[in-house]
Amino acid sequence: MMNDVYVALGSNIGDRQSFLDSALKEIDRLEGTHVEKISSIYETEPVGYKDQEAFLNMVAKVQTVLSPNELLDKLQSIEHALKRTREIHWGPRTIDLDILLYNQENIQTEELKIPHPRMLDRGFVMIPLYELQPDLHFPHTDKNFSTIIEERIDKKGVNVWKRNNGGGGSGLFEN
Ligand code: ADP
Ligand code: MG
Repeated sequence: MMNDVYVALGSNIGDRQSFLDSALKEIDRLEGTHVEKISSIYETEPVGYKDQEAFLNMVAKVQTVLSPNELLDKLQSIEHALKRTREIHWGPRTIDLDILLYNQENIQTEELKIPHPRMLDRGFVMIPLYELQPDLHFPHTDKNFSTIIEERIDKKGVNVWKRNNGGGGSGLFEN
């Protein structure tokens, strides 16, 4: 069975776009997994640990046969392969891959929390997600997406860096 998943990607070290590109390619190559569409790339000011470079962030809609835990495991392998380092909590990273939503499931385990617990407060997640899927329904809320954005999201510091002109899910892969 195919599952609808939204994955957030972020990078703030080195050639940030090429880390996003590489991660998307690797996700698309996973067994039974396909990147269906992608948001524009946004440049965002760091939150949390501020003394670091600006991030590039985006969101991808992914279809997969993998279970949530299998997908987390594969995403962590991709982070590892792209030489992610983890010295500082919320600090600089070559690539960060977070599972935002997995169908409408609610998962609360030590290693995996879905919906991603901080997503609703993060402009760098919600703004690309809204671009990608404005009609998205969030588990356990009746609020529509535009209301959530208006009520909770600070749009300052989240700016389009490279627009995806609707070139389909694999637009970024083509050179
Ligand atoms: P953050 O993404 O919050 O900046 P990390 O990427 O270092 O932090 O993630 C730390 C841990 O978060 C991972 O080891 C993973 O087990 C856990 N985690 C919990 N829920 C999720 C999720 N939905 N997607 C990705 N990782 C998650
Ligand atoms: Mg993460």
